[in-house]
Amino acid sequence: MFRKLLTIEEAKTAIRRHFKSKPPGTEHVPLLQATGRILAEDIIAQVNVPPFDRSIVDGYAVRAEETFGAEETCPIQLELAGTINIGELPRVKVTKGKAAEIVTGAPIPQGADAVVMMEHTERTDDAIRIFAPVVKDQNIMKASSDIKEGQRLLTTCQQLGSREIGMIAAIGKPLVKTYRLPTVAVLSTGPEIAEPGKKLSPGKIYDINAYTLSSAVIEAGGRPLYLGVVQDSLQQLQKALRSALSQADMVITSGGVSVGPRDIMPTAVNTLGKPGVIVSGISIKPGKPTTIASVDGKLVFSFPGHPTSALLVLHLLALPLIQQLAGKKPRQPSQTKAYTTTRLFSAKGRRTYIMVTLKHDETGKRTAEPLPTSQSGAITTLAKADGYIEIPENMQYIEKNEQCTIRRFR
Ligand code: AMP
Ligand code: MG
Repeated sequence: MFRKLLTIEEAKTAIRRHFKSKPPGTEHVPLLQATGRILAEDIIAQVNVPPFDRSIVDGYAVRAEETFGAEETCPIQLELAGTINIGELPRVKVTKGKAAEIVTGAPIPQGADAVVMMEHTERTDDAIRIFAPVVKDQNIMKASSDIKEGQRLLTTCQQLGSREIGMIAAIGKPLVKTYRLPTVAVLSTGPEIAEPGKKLSPGKIYDINAYTLSSAVIEAGGRPLYLGVVQDSLQQLQKALRSALSQADMVITSGGVSVGPRDIMPTAVNTLGKPGVIVSGISIKPGKPTTIASVDGKLVFSFPGHPTSALLVLHLLALPLIQQLAGKKPRQPSQTKAYTTTRLFSAKGRRTYIMVTLKHDETGKRTAEPLPTSQSGAITTLAKADGYIEIPENMQYIEKNEQCTIRRFR
């Protein structure tokens, strides 16, 4: 197998050549389960909202012109025509000199064209005194003023959050057509990695990567499929990877891609199908040994075991693809500007990514403080990172106090 480092752009080109990121189909899901999902249809209103003119206050439905001139000291008196029940058609009409009692949300009765708030009225038996005038349509929400029948409310590829779900609920649609969640199999490797919930025997550490990678997959709109920890044995890796490929749209592994004697992941992924390994090392830091295979149209990303490296390369290469598989519109990662707090050195000849924490200095200036690289294996360090600064291959360092771009993790 070849071992030629590609630039990050060459790696992306190789991926594009072998992978068509089309969503794996659509499905209808109940509205309550649609939160976070991506629409695979335009939502067109089939009804008016509200369907009828309705009161937006508790009070009396009146003919506006009859309230003109009403004052605190000189009320106008009307006679009760009856009470409007909420949730049904009014059985009362408002004719000259009359007013009908109404509550918020009840339909405006025939003859009335405004509602006087309860607070501006006083009632003795059937006599209602009005202390403030109203104009036509005051305190009325007109039929279809919110949503008009035939109106396009949402479009394909929009993500559904509570507010979008509310609009769909308002038009009474029980099911929505969404893209299926792409399944991304996640597996960890190495005899030192233990699953949570088990007692740690000497020399072992708990699995971090399966969890950081899986949650990032969820954040990107995918469904992770956790396949556990696999030992560094060719046979076991092949078996686990075949099973992963048969169940998932994409596979992500961590560990076992360096140059140690147990680092046999590249060999394993190259035996699964055609064309096999398409990226065998990328000229970046961290993440250099990243290996990518294409197997019958599916991608297997094999990241180095260091949690920081694995998560960074996932962000750089895999998450945009998962977003596309999920049906999301392509989006530039969010970025911001800040001033460096020290000189930042790059790794010779490699695109270097430096994790930073965003802060403010005494003068209120936004700063980007690098995380100590000696701690690059520490998950607490990674957790403090807000994003990263990219230093190009041909640049030796970024000077202290220089303004630079920070690509954010969220
Ligand atoms: P490797 O890439 O397998 O050589 O691993 C590099 C470093 O990352 C080693 O210190 C591993 O113990 C650690 N590592 C590998 N996989 C994981 C994992 N799933 N969670 C946490 N640390 C890991
Ligand atoms: Mg390992």
